[in-house]
Amino acid sequence: MTTVTGLATARGLAAGPVFVYRGDGNIPTPEYIVEEGREGEELARLSRSIAAIRSDLERMIETLRERTGRQDLHIFECHLMILEDPYLADEIKKKILVGRLNAEAAVRKVFALHRAQFAKMNDAYFRERVLDLDDVERRLVKSLAGCSKDPHLEIKTPSIIVADDLTPSETVLLPRECVLGFATNGGSTTSHVALLARALAIPAVTGLGNITANVGAGETMLLDGSTGVVILRPDEATRASFYELMRRESCLVDAASMERPAGTLKSGGEVRICANVHPGIPLAGFREKGARGIGLYRSEFLWLNSDFEPTEEEQFEAYREATRFSRQLAPDATITIRVLDIGGDKMMRGRKSSEPNPFLGNRSIRYLLSHKDVFRRQMRAILRASVEGRVRIMYPMVSCIEELTAAAEIIAGVKAELDAEGVAYAKDIPVGAMIEVPSAALCAEEFARHVDFFSIGTNDLVQYTMAADRGNDAVAHLYQPLNRAVISLAKMSVAAAKGRGLPISVCGESAADPVVGTYWAALGVDTLSMSAAYIPVMSRILANLTREDLDEYAKVPDSMPSDATGRQIFDACRDWLASRLPAELTEIVGL
Ligand code: PEP
Ligand code: MG
Repeated sequence: MTTVTGLATARGLAAGPVFVYRGDGNIPTPEYIVEEGREGEELARLSRSIAAIRSDLERMIETLRERTGRQDLHIFECHLMILEDPYLADEIKKKILVGRLNAEAAVRKVFALHRAQFAKMNDAYFRERVLDLDDVERRLVKSLAGCSKDPHLEIKTPSIIVADDLTPSETVLLPRECVLGFATNGGSTTSHVALLARALAIPAVTGLGNITANVGAGETMLLDGSTGVVILRPDEATRASFYELMRRESCLVDAASMERPAGTLKSGGEVRICANVHPGIPLAGFREKGARGIGLYRSEFLWLNSDFEPTEEEQFEAYREATRFSRQLAPDATITIRVLDIGGDKMMRGRKSSEPNPFLGNRSIRYLLSHKDVFRRQMRAILRASVEGRVRIMYPMVSCIEELTAAAEIIAGVKAELDAEGVAYAKDIPVGAMIEVPSAALCAEEFARHVDFFSIGTNDLVQYTMAADRGNDAVAHLYQPLNRAVISLAKMSVAAAKGRGLPISVCGESAADPVVGTYWAALGVDTLSMSAAYIPVMSRILANLTREDLDEYAKVPDSMPSDATGRQIFDACRDWLASRLPAELTEIVGL
């Protein structure tokens, strides 16, 4: 039995066999001259591989269509087209027949030539097709090397996925019913892959160093996403006590057993708890988790994993469906649709930012203000969907007042356009700003005059305040949600909102952290929005606290010495909270 500790990335317990996901990795490519007269064998090998990949791709398209209900699988259709391109195939054959090269080397050489030509093209679309060429080339070389199986199709029994790291699209494409948990060598707690694991309610531990080398396929693993502990090859006693913990956890997170709506305090009154969602995630389970609305709808997922901007109609459909769904959550449920938050590490499929420092670049609201046609299309789609329920519009990454006034002009223009066309929309639709850049918190009083609500995006607010990349485990120790600097900015934002009677929520992942989320509630935010899987636990915590308890909790950081570190403040808060909650709850949430 071996115990390894990594970063507690997505809460929850998982136990089961290991599936080692190798992704595409580096495939060795032998290069040699084929014996005279044996060129035909190489050609036959090539044809067999092309046929096998064709059938794999077709099966993949079909499986994914069934699993995800998605029609936009043109990534794989495009790969099929490349695979069947007669010009490419002829060139490879020529290298085998004339140059007497083995098939792997012939494939590599021909693809390298095409890659270089595509990369030189002025048109961004063609430059980005390089990634598709890479993909098909990898598939071909893998197949020729005899390791053709696609990992997405290979996972057949529920397993804990052990990988070096996973991209967001790899994570989304894995068959949910077969994924018990994730354990990865790299990664961090607030990377977008981590957010996806949480949104999909999959327990995850990241930053494990070299877990892939220490575990074999099929071996048993126990994984605790709350503490970051992973146990390999557990002994009988450890297994038994882990299963007992799992049993108790599943009783605890059963929201149906909650008597009062999620977020109700022991003394009455509430901190509303909503769900963070994104297009592509099945919405059905959210009601059982107790979500009282959709506090953050990450619209950019309509763009990610796609080659093209979604049309106004496609967007309208998606927003309308989510808005209709939100109405079923509570009689007064709202849905907060965040406009396109693209840039940084969130790029359209296969695109890489050309900016030297994309996290400080032309992203989010800045991108929309420099691509007004994209902004207008999205506004039209949101406004059209707004007649279906209580929709709010939210701007990400606002850093100065002029962005708010420029966005207000765009909305006014779009509303006038819809009026002229006789299209209905909610005239009084609330418009809010995310507070996720320090400048926004520092100017919150002024911002409050220009918007109808605030939502604190702690994922980015912590990153920008501490200058610590949210996705980089090397600086994870600096990523401190309860550092005094972050607390001061949060307090300023709450005070500015309250000063003008505006609603304020927290929609960063820290809202779901028992210690930190409860602290934001204590500071006076009226809503916490989080991945739905975490709602039951946060509800249980709040149900054990009165408003007076929260007032007392809010003072814990203030009572610490002025040189207390973020870690010390966190620990003091955790100790206070642990002392107020029942032991059963503290054990399960890992306090
Ligand atoms: C945040 O930054 O806290 C947030 C909610 O936005 P995202 O994680 O999508 O950047
Ligand atoms: Mg953000």
